[in-house]
Amino acid sequence: MTCTATFSGKAGRPVYFGTNTKMYKTIAQTSDFLTELDRLTAGLSRERLTLFVIPSFTALERARRCAPPERILLGAQNMGWADEGQFTGEISPLMLREVGVQVVEIGHSERRHVLGETDWMENQKVRCALRHAFTPLLCIGETAEQKEMGLSDEVLRTQLKAGLQGVTAAEAARLWVAYEPVWAIGTAGVPASPDYAEEKHRVIRQCLTEQFGAVGGAIPLLYGGSVNRENAVQLIPRPNIDGLFIGRSAWEAERFAQIIRDCLAVLSAV
Ligand code: PEP
Repeated sequence: MTCTATFSGKAGRPVYFGTNTKMYKTIAQTSDFLTELDRLTAGLSRERLTLFVIPSFTALERARRCAPPERILLGAQNMGWADEGQFTGEISPLMLREVGVQVVEIGHSERRHVLGETDWMENQKVRCALRHAFTPLLCIGETAEQKEMGLSDEVLRTQLKAGLQGVTAAEAARLWVAYEPVWAIGTAGVPASPDYAEEKHRVIRQCLTEQFGAVGGAIPLLYGGSVNRENAVQLIPRPNIDGLFIGRSAWEAERFAQIIRDCLAVLSAV
């Protein structure tokens, strides 16, 4: 079914829905996914709605041709922090710019906890993304162990302060942040309850406001971690949740479009 509804946003604030396809989907699969997603969502007003998809690097060029930039923003899952150099296996901001990338995902929990990236590295990447006029999507979140020890808020604050070191308020206006508790992500993940997610988003909002003033308070905050059709409609109306960053439940276009439709219906009713 094609979406045609118009939507007025969350009390005037924009709303965001996106997915990172991780190390799934070939070029052909990404192309089919994006073509179908665009067909299903093209009728939605983008006045206060932002959709984005973050496919694998090899699929980016074809993805750009399937997803009109004014309807579906295209993201990269990672980026090196130098324009060029002896960094085997890294990808340069210039290369991402060349294929039409708009958003750069930085610090996904798998980059941090499986591949060993540090807050210092995420900070280099955020600053590089800003220099190159991308929208950095900084992902933060505590592990299960940190949560059990009652350290969640400290961890979030540290990741924000370290990851955004040296970023000016003017630059912060171009930033997005995703709260993705490590224990909530992936097949072994347990989704955060809407109350818990809202509470952590409130902490993040407060920390960003302390760092950047009013600009910080307006930074879009997205929740990610085992979002599905059932919990999406409970998460999205929460005051500090501006959007949903979805993995597995968004990798089939009809399912993703259905979640978007459900959420917009809920928001239109509040
Ligand atoms: C993710 O890895 O960023 C994610 C949110 O995945 P999932 O929704 O599958 O838990």
